[in-house]
Parts: sequence; structure tokens; C-alpha cells
Amino acid sequence: MVKETIRVYARVKPLGRRQQAGSYSVDDEEDSLSSLEITVPRDLADGFVNNKRETYKFKFQKIFDQEAKQDVVFDSIAKPVAECVLAGYNGTIFAYGQTGSGKTFTITGGAERYSDRGIIPRTLSYVFDQLQKDSSKMYTTHVSYLEIYNECGYDLLDPRHEASRLEDLPKVTIMEDSDQNIHLKNLSLQQATNEEEALNLLFLGDTNRMIAETPMNQASSRSHCIFTIHISSKEPGSATIRRSKLHLVDLAGSERVAKTGVGGHLLTEAKYINLSLHYLEQVIIALAEKNRSHIPYRNSMMTSVLRDSLGGNCMTAMIATLSIDKRNIDESISTCRFAQRVALIKNEAVLNEEIDPRLMIVQLKKEIQDLKDELELVTGKQRTSELSQEELLQLDELIETFLKDNDPDSTLDVGADMRKIKYCFIRMKQLVNHPTISDKKLLSQDISEEEDANKESGEEEQEKLKHLLQQRDDEINILINMLKKEKKKAQDAVSQLNATSACSSVLEQSVSINLEDRQSPSSCFSLKEAKDFSSSIHRLPFLSRQTGGKMSLGCQEAFEVFKRDHADSITIEDNKQLLKQRFAEVKCLGEKLNEVRSKINRLKGEITQRHIQRAALAVSSPSEELNMFDPVEEKLRMQIEEEKKSYKTMFNRFKGLKVEIEHLQLLMEKVKMKMQKDFEVWWSEEAKNLQERPEMVTSPNTVTVYPRFIKSLQHLSANSFSETTKVSPNEDPDGKNNSITFSNPALKTRTPPSSSTSIPLTGDSQADADILAFIKARQRILQKKGLENK
Ligand code: ADP
Ligand code: MG
Repeated sequence: MVKETIRVYARVKPLGRRQQAGSYSVDDEEDSLSSLEITVPRDLADGFVNNKRETYKFKFQKIFDQEAKQDVVFDSIAKPVAECVLAGYNGTIFAYGQTGSGKTFTITGGAERYSDRGIIPRTLSYVFDQLQKDSSKMYTTHVSYLEIYNECGYDLLDPRHEASRLEDLPKVTIMEDSDQNIHLKNLSLQQATNEEEALNLLFLGDTNRMIAETPMNQASSRSHCIFTIHISSKEPGSATIRRSKLHLVDLAGSERVAKTGVGGHLLTEAKYINLSLHYLEQVIIALAEKNRSHIPYRNSMMTSVLRDSLGGNCMTAMIATLSIDKRNIDESISTCRFAQRVALIKNEAVLNEEIDPRLMIVQLKKEIQDLKDELELVTGKQRTSELSQEELLQLDELIETFLKDNDPDSTLDVGADMRKIKYCFIRMKQLVNHPTISDKKLLSQDISEEEDANKESGEEEQEKLKHLLQQRDDEINILINMLKKEKKKAQDAVSQLNATSACSSVLEQSVSINLEDRQSPSSCFSLKEAKDFSSSIHRLPFLSRQTGGKMSLGCQEAFEVFKRDHADSITIEDNKQLLKQRFAEVKCLGEKLNEVRSKINRLKGEITQRHIQRAALAVSSPSEELNMFDPVEEKLRMQIEEEKKSYKTMFNRFKGLKVEIEHLQLLMEKVKMKMQKDFEVWWSEEAKNLQERPEMVTSPNTVTVYPRFIKSLQHLSANSFSETTKVSPNEDPDGKNNSITFSNPALKTRTPPSSSTSIPLTGDSQADADILAFIKARQRILQKKGLENK
């Protein structure tokens, strides 16, 4: 058991360009705790009438200032926890802070650069690396991803889902068993055998998280997300299984509503926007208080799920994320205060070991068979589970004699045979319940008494063995019951998922333990593998979430333009270039690796050749020299060593590149997905606007034109408007009634903002093009005028 307080860290987010830094200082000491001092400027301090202090000092395990990079944060915070989890303890890392302070950046990572990847992908990489190195145990890994919004849990890893709203995702509920263990019903545990699979799952969850978010629910700032890595390990042949979990938690934004009353008691009376964070604080307060017997975990789903992480069986670390600009000073102080309380909590982590009942049964069955064989050898009799008729009669007789004997010291001795003892009890019960039977003849009465002639010197040993056998029988029964109970628990926990065969099979895998050997990742390399990276993305079923199938041609074209002008397109382009470069590198490395390999093979061949030559020489002209050290061979061996070294370095680089490429691809997909979502929102808004104003549109962003003009415009942008424009059947050069209105994004990007414009059509495509030029010129003039007026 490891008794430890929760480790609390602080991370300060870099200031934005226009942000004004609050005044703070970091005192970072190598061996002891670091301290953060925040000074509240006078103007702000006026608000803190009740606490006149101006500087606040907080202690942390370590403070990561603005320039701290993701790898350092991972090494200091997450690596030690991951190590504990690999050793069989539970672990939790949670980020706490106001919205925008860098929780998601720290836990998941930034979406732009590979180096920005956060604790989750780095931990996955580390864990799988370690598992691969340890061949002494068999490991099974699963991941789950839970989002809690408004006291409702959602499974982010549902692969079938085309979620467009959070409510579409499978709902996860909490169940508590009689031992007060928490079970999450409906949360899928997906098996991940390697880093790539795990990253894909993370990506699936993040995508669902993003897609499900709408401005209405502000899911990202109001919800808690818990990514969990489940590891179980077992030594070959052993029945003991170690299970551990690592929760990586991105909490909801901790910002509060300030009740600025008279004199403004900002810090003391501010209330959490998120109710479950309020409950989290209550739990923390209760835990930090001595002698509190009741901890209110049950008040919210989040505290129930994290129960073991707080004051329980877990190694826990907290990261307080701080946005330390002037405007957020009070929130930062709140976050630090919360952290100080958390730092007082002690956890008691224990190794989570349990016996695998199935394996135990197999072992016991074998032991029983061995004992049976041994017994048979000693007694010379075969032991069956049933007593023979003869034996039964004998027992009846013994019972009768025993019952009739008036001597209070008389005993009923049937020997150390559980079958006989049991039979005696049953018989006696019958006699007690139906006393009339006692008058009747007992079963055995007409069979003459028979002496046991076989009492030999081996009797003692025989009895010992029988006794052992019975013990084993009992144990097996107990284990079978355990197994049944386990099964039932699992069934309860997954009953809903069972409805879908795809998911239930995954769950069965997760509930039962995979006893098969873990596939050792192949260390073999081929160029094909390099190519596979590029196609891996298309293998993912959830990546087929494309609006393309549903999009009209016009919409598609609009999307193309939207994409081009979207701010993220630069990121995509950058990453594309980087990917290209990485692909080239991988290809080049692959070729080099193959070259080195053939070189090593050639050198080996030379050594063999050399051996043959020397052996032949030794036969034809034996001499001392030939038996001695061969400098040529030594040189060849050294060369091989050199080549092997460079092979290893290159191979490691190759592996690193592989991970980077996968990550980049996922990042790109994520950005694309986001763009698509932005587009959908924008598009539906546009459509709504259009419906609200079916006639002339006076919005400065739309142009009103006549049908034939549209037709001619279609030359410029084929099919762009087919879906979204309403073409009037009649032309009416003067009338607004027959004019058509469109606010097609494709056109919008081609036409600068203008005031409402109504243009008569000529029917002549050349003239229509002239009209277009005219509109543009007019708009330019209007814009210019607008500027001058200002
Ligand atoms: P939260 O999840 O707490 O609401 P985010 O992690 O989304 O906040 O961070 C808000 C913004 O700040 C994001 O654009 C993120 O990329 C950026 N950011 C946060 N922390 C850092 C950091 N340490 N370095 C660079 N950018 C950061
Ligand atoms: Mg966030």
C-alpha cells in the first residue's frame, strides 16, 4: 500500500498578444515545493474589501511557467503516474481551471503541431512502449472515453455513431454494487493492442466531442471528459491478475459567477457556474477535514466516477491551469485556493490483484485428477462420485445402530469420506422429519454386515488424500459461484450494449480477460508499412463521416470556397507539407534500412566464406597460424556491429516518424472535421436567413439579381446555385417581385460586401458579364464612399 497526498502542480498559460500580464512570480526550488506569488493590483484589490491582503502565496509540487513545453509537463507529471499504473496501481491526472486556461491543451494537446500533443497521446505512447519492452507478463489494454454534461454521461467511443448532438451518443449511467463499487453502464471499453489503435480511439472520441458541441450547450467548457486507459497484466501460468486504470480528466471550466455586492466580495461569494464542480469542492473540503466520516461523493456523477481518485485507492495528480492575465487574476486565485485544499488529501493506493477464477478452476481440476489417481493407487479402488449400493446399505446399518445405542458416548464413525458423511446427514434429516421411517426397516437391514477387510497400513494416507480431495471439491464450488457472480455483474453492466452485437463482443472482451498471448508487435520493417500509414486513415470507419454524401453540388462548391478561406486552411496546408516531408523521410529511411540490412547479410556471408576458406587451408597445409585469431574476420565482425548500430538508430527514428505521421494525419482530420462543422453551422444560418427574407434581401452581404443573370453566372460557378436559389419564372425588369435573392457562399466569396443591389437582366451573356463588372465597380465605389464618410 502506498500512502501519499495528491500531487498538485500549476501551469501558467502563455499570455495572448493583447493580454496584460497580471503580477506574479514563481519561486522554483529544486528539492522542495515551488511557490507562486500573485499580487493583486490596487485597482482590483479595491474589490476585495473583506480581505485586504494584496499578495497571495501558494505552494505547488512544481510550477510550469509560460514557456514550459508539453514534453516537460509530461515527464514531470504524467510519467510517474503512468509508471505506477504499469505496476498495477490506479492513477488519475486531472486538470482544473477556468475556461481558456489550457486544460484541454495540457490533457489532450493543441490541434496544430505534433510537438503540442498533450498528456493523453504521450501517455499512450509511453505505456505501449513499456508494455512492449516487458515480455515477462501478458498485458491487455482497453480505453474508454466518457463525457459528463449536465449530470448525464455519454460514451464518446461509440464507433457506429453519426452523432450530431451530444444527446445522440449512448447514455452512460452509474450503478453501485453492494460493495459500493461504481460501475458505468453503457460505457464501452475498446481494446487497443497498440499505440496506433489507441490514438485512433482518442481521435474518435475527440471528434465526437467536437461534433456534439453546439454554441447552445458549450459542451467543451461545461462538461467533464474522462479518458481512461485500463491495463490488466498476468504472469504466464499464474492465476493472479493485476488490473489498473489511468483516468486522464479534463474538467469543466471552473469559472464562477461573481456576486459583486456592495463592496464586492468577489472571491468569497462567487459561485461555480458548474454545479458538479461545486460538489467536487464539497468532496475536497470533506476529505481535507479530519474525522469526517461522510464524504458526499454521490451528489454528482463526476464525483462518483472519480471517487477512487480522491481520497481512495489511487495515485492522483492535479494540474491547476492558470490564465494569469490581469482580468483573470481572481479566477486564478480561486483555482490556486482549490489546489491548496486538494494538496491536503491523502490517498491510499493498493495493488489491484485478483484471482482469475477460470484459471484457478483449471488448476484445481488438474490437482483433483492427480489426487484421484494417487488415491486409486493407494486403495486399489476406483473412486466414483456416487456411493455404491453396498456402501449405502452399510451406512444405513451404522446409522441404525448409532440411533439405537443408548450409550451417550457412542459415535457414528463412517471414516473420512465426505460422500458418506453427507449421506448420513441426509438420512438423519429424513428420520427427523419423518420419524415413522425409523420404525421401518432401513435400506440396509437385510444385507448382512460385512467386515472391511481392506484396512491396511495405507489407510491413514488414504484418508488424508480423501480429505484433500473434498477440500478441492468445495473450493471448486466456491469458484464456480464466483464466476457466476462475475458473469452476472458483467451482464448487468453491459446489458444495454448487448443489444448491439458489435459492441457487446468488444465488451465481452473487456470484461473477461484475454488469456491469449499478447501479440508481440513485429519489429520487422517493410516499405509497404510506410505506405500503409497513408491509407490507415481510410480504414477507420468513423472517418467516413463526410457531409459529401448528403451535400448538393452547390453546397459542395460552397464548401470548397469556405474551406479555402477558413482560418484553419493554413494549418492544414502546413501539416500537409510536413506530412509530405515526413513521408519522403520515411521512404528514404526505409530504403536505407533495407540497404543496411543487405550489407549486414553480405558481411555475414563474407565471414562464412572466410571460415570455409580457412578450414580448407587447414586441411591442405596444417599450420599453427591458421588456428589463431583472424584479423580479417575480426574486422568484418566490427563492421557488422557498426552497421547494426546504425540500423538500430535508423529504425528508432523510423518508428518515431511513424508515430508522428499517424498523429499528423489525425490532427489534419480533426481540423477538417471542425471546418466541416463550422461550414454546416454557417450554411444552415444562411439558409435560415434566406427563408426569413424570401423577397429582396437588404443584408449588406447579399446581392439581389434577376434569374437570367444567375444563369449566366452559372458559367462561372457550375451548379453552385442549383439548390439554393429561387428562380422566378417571369422576368420583370422593374419589379422586385420577380427578382431572386441568393446568399450563396460561393458567390459571396466572389462578391465583396455591398448594399442591396437589384439589376435588370439583358438575356445576353456578354451583357450579363458586364453587369457583373458593373456591380463590382459599384460596390467598390460604395465601399469607398463609406470609408470617406467615416
Ligand atoms: P481550456 O480547455 O482550459 O478551456 P484550452 O486548452 O482550450 O483551454 O486553451 C485555450 C487556448 O489557449 C487554446 O487555443 C490553446 O491552444 C491555447 N493554449 C493553452 N495553453 C497553452 C500553452 N501552454 N501553450 C500554448 N497555447 C496554449
Ligand atoms: Mg477545454
